[in-house]
Amino acid sequence: MNNQITLNNQITRMTKQMTKLPFLYFDSAVCSGCKTCVVACLDGRNDDTDHPRRNVIEYCGGSFRQRGDGAFVQDVYAYYLSISCHHCSEPLCLKACPNKALRKEPSGLVTLVGDCLGCRNCRTACPYDAPVFDLKTGKLDKCDFCIDRLNSKQAPLCVEACPLGALTLIEETDLENIDEDDLMVAPPPLPPWSLTKPRLMVGWPKRFTRADIEKLRDGRVANPEEK
Ligand code: SF4
Ligand code: SF4
Ligand code: SF4
Repeated sequence: MNNQITLNNQITRMTKQMTKLPFLYFDSAVCSGCKTCVVACLDGRNDDTDHPRRNVIEYCGGSFRQRGDGAFVQDVYAYYLSISCHHCSEPLCLKACPNKALRKEPSGLVTLVGDCLGCRNCRTACPYDAPVFDLKTGKLDKCDFCIDRLNSKQAPLCVEACPLGALTLIEETDLENIDEDDLMVAPPPLPPWSLTKPRLMVGWPKRFTRADIEKLRDGRVANPEEK
């Protein structure tokens, strides 16, 4: 209940001055990988879309090894990253579109405004592999940050649905209180923040900090077929 009140206050505060899109904060330390956010993105829409605009990456690594005394030890790990379009300040998708079908709005939203040719150049260019394509039309169907909901003082469907509060909205000014290194370095396999300057902040998974980044690069995406 208190969480809901906080969320409502947060949304009211943000949408009153909807000149700028909020940032999304995803906390990998609390995400359980349940994918309720993905289901909410798909189910909450009023069309016959058959694909969500959000994806949860399951990232895992580590191994077992035998010590000199014969005992087996392990350092296996797994964590989750809930990903969609992050409405980047420097969107590579936009530059890659041969038909100039994408636009960066003054609010920060990256929208499809022209005719999508279905070439998927935007997806190839996006370091988050975020653009999603409608299976029936073959055209881009990207996350719009649930802008209609934001404009009516509601949180995006994925944010509202997460049972653990792993997805929250933050204002750009709140980033001033965040350590710049934490902002610039996201857990693998996410790219460095500087590449596109996404409207996204990612909290590190339990047991790890940005000091572990090199060790985590050896991991792999366990569910590539879900994208
Ligand atoms: S709903 Fe929340 S906890 Fe579940 S996968 Fe999505 S972000 Fe993670
Ligand atoms: S996340 Fe990818 S698709 Fe979205 S704005 Fe950034 S570069 Fe473009
Ligand atoms: S903001 Fe809306 S469209 Fe984008 S991933 Fe979340 S639910 Fe889907």
